[in-house]
Amino acid sequence: MGLTIVVERTTAHKAKPAIDQLSFGKYFTDHMFIMDYDAGKGWHHPRIVPYQPILLDPAAKVFHYGQTVFEGMKAYRTPKGQILMFRPYKNLQRLNRSNARLSIPSLDEGLVMEALRQLIKVDEDWIPAEQGTSLYIRPFVIATQATLGVSPSEQYHFIIILSPVGSYYEEGINPVSIYVESEYVRAVTGGVGNAKTGGNYAAGLKAQQEATDKGYSQVLWLDGVHRKYIEEVGSMNVFFKVGDKVITPALNGSILDGVTRDSVIRLLKHWDIEVEERAISIDELVEAYRSGLLQEAFGTGTAAVISPIGELNWQGDKLTLNEGRTGPVAAKLYDFMTGIQRGAIEDPFGWVVE
Ligand code: PMP
Repeated sequence: MGLTIVVERTTAHKAKPAIDQLSFGKYFTDHMFIMDYDAGKGWHHPRIVPYQPILLDPAAKVFHYGQTVFEGMKAYRTPKGQILMFRPYKNLQRLNRSNARLSIPSLDEGLVMEALRQLIKVDEDWIPAEQGTSLYIRPFVIATQATLGVSPSEQYHFIIILSPVGSYYEEGINPVSIYVESEYVRAVTGGVGNAKTGGNYAAGLKAQQEATDKGYSQVLWLDGVHRKYIEEVGSMNVFFKVGDKVITPALNGSILDGVTRDSVIRLLKHWDIEVEERAISIDELVEAYRSGLLQEAFGTGTAAVISPIGELNWQGDKLTLNEGRTGPVAAKLYDFMTGIQRGAIEDPFGWVVE
């Protein structure tokens, strides 16, 4: 029998921030969803409650061994007032793949979808309407059992919080400069790179910090074994336009299977543009640049949708792409993806869910 979600509404509504104050993940809505897990009982007690701190024992396993996973997705308000989500089932499937990798019990995707619908409905007034803004949705699981043994927790919380976010590009879609990282690696095949777990992001901070200090906005990650195959850019998947083709690294176990990545591949094929998913080395990329074949590079992810790359720094050599401007493929993808997300362009794939 399905579980019923209990709703406790707040009596103390928070003041909503002004649109120009939003930025990313700074403000949270009035409510949150929470559900508990106990070995023997399974997932139980799903509830929507006023947004509040949670009380955890200092020995909770998540603090020590990082047994945690998360997701990132968005809801958009259309000019007609509909509320749309973009391929939410893909995120929920990925959440369960991350759970499996981190030895966390799987969640009922139907129940989580229902929790999302009800929570978004309760906090509907928090969804900004201005073009480019959205409601960022952060579902996550934490291991809460208070024992220091290195073993899967027997207790968890699954929580969903919501945050109204501003436009990623305040002055239009803008290329970024990228530092190709040759010292640190993000993940290796067989590890947890293809799971959305906190440790991957903690492990990336140092390289990100050093790239920021050098004046770059993100790093381009290379693989951890051969130290030459391209993996991801910051926390986005990456694509290159080389000649008539678009090339993106194949999912090899250390790369996150991005929802935007999958959508971009399907869109390009729909437009009859050839896409290759395969290993691509930094040497091949530099070679393509030198011979004039490398026309565009861009990252893909829920936050920015499409993030064009204007410059790559590889061991001091600066490769300028498309004269540092947004290329036509990146621009077309951005317009189409954001168009269907805000209901302005008809969605031929059935990706948006009301
Ligand atoms: N790679 C990493 C490491 C990420 O954290 C993300 C963001 N979820 C992505 C790629 C892009 O995935 P998506 O398109 O599903 O947001």
